[in-house]
Amino acid sequence: MTAATPPVTSTTDRRVSARIGSISESTTLAVDAKAKALKAAGRPVIGFGAGEPDFPTPDYIVEAAVEACRNPKYHRYTPAGGLPELKAAIADKTLRDSGYEVDASQVLVTNGGKQAIYEAFAAILDPGDEVLVPAPYWTSYPESIRLAGGVPVDVVADETTGYQICVEQLEAALTPRTKVLLFVSPSNPTGAVYTREQVEEIGRWAAEKGLWVLTDEIYEHLVYGDTIRPPGAAGWQSSSLPVVVPELRDKCIVVNGVAKTYAMTGWRVGWLIGPMDVVKAATNLQSHATSNVSNVAQAAALAAVSGDLTAVAKMREAFDRRRQTMVRMLSEIPGVLCPEPEGAFYAYPSVKALIGKEFPRSSEGGKRPASSVELAALILEEAEVAVVPGEAFGTPGYLRLSYALGDEDLVEGVSRIQKLLGQARD
Ligand code: GLU
Repeated sequence: MTAATPPVTSTTDRRVSARIGSISESTTLAVDAKAKALKAAGRPVIGFGAGEPDFPTPDYIVEAAVEACRNPKYHRYTPAGGLPELKAAIADKTLRDSGYEVDASQVLVTNGGKQAIYEAFAAILDPGDEVLVPAPYWTSYPESIRLAGGVPVDVVADETTGYQICVEQLEAALTPRTKVLLFVSPSNPTGAVYTREQVEEIGRWAAEKGLWVLTDEIYEHLVYGDTIRPPGAAGWQSSSLPVVVPELRDKCIVVNGVAKTYAMTGWRVGWLIGPMDVVKAATNLQSHATSNVSNVAQAAALAAVSGDLTAVAKMREAFDRRRQTMVRMLSEIPGVLCPEPEGAFYAYPSVKALIGKEFPRSSEGGKRPASSVELAALILEEAEVAVVPGEAFGTPGYLRLSYALGDEDLVEGVSRIQKLLGQARD
């Protein structure tokens, strides 16, 4: 007689761990990949999906990378936390751009801002710690928090407040388990920008409550409008949280990167700046996970942050023009409500009034989308335009459209959306 086969336990049965299995795919990247694949297959798809500047990376940055490729020094491992000269340049750039004085040892260079966010939460959260997450939020924040064992607590704002949360809402969401406030201005996906006074109020509240703050400043140079960027001013009036509320510094992590400012999304260089103990902990994590960021990309980032802001000023001009065109055209569609974004490169219109309406289809009769996910799918199918549904950002009933693409494509894409959505019937 052979021994009985032991019963299969649910643990051995599970192929993907519960922790990783519970994470959903990044919707922004999925929409972008789908649009790019359709385009490669010859479909005339216009992608408003991922936030990715259409400009090439400026030449002087590319040249620095070419030189680095030829230098054997960069063919080797370098310190896991980043090239010392890049860390120093990031510290200098931070002082120049936001008035925040930090030491190079407080900088950790990461594979894009995304890894900085992941490592920051991993370094400060214990299981069950709550993080206040203003919503609509960028799709990857809650997943990073969950991966670290934390609990994201949404604090939702809508178009009636320009997608800005206030201290009263934060107060209502506060519990004894709250450890961190996530603060993002300019915001992805809404383009909301908080004024210096608002930043101060929120920061003081966080400091009073003894909270940590993770502030994502990746869109720092992409702000529009007179209140935020007074006419003739050389730069915008920075409202970096630890500068406006210095008492937060010992519990503040700033995340940033070169992707949006220098059209360097594919190079994958970001960083976090924080108190020494947290930076050390996050660096230890990175030393096991990925080691140093590609030295070629770090050399390019060094050229980027050491140079001036001429290139981003030019891009900002183009984004501002496209922003105005997009908001105007979207607002012409009955049922679409599009507040004017003041920063980043996204419009975040409410399409709640169009959910459940009937739209014509080229095949199989009409379609009544029951959610913004279904509406986005219809727009891709019928208009061949890729947009990201609000569900990805914690708020169903909205669409996110990036305006970081060429003017002609933008007009063509929004015209197609106008045409499709303009045919809504009860
Ligand atoms: N951050 C950009 C976006 O929101 C790039 C894609 C991603 O990483 O999510 O579209």
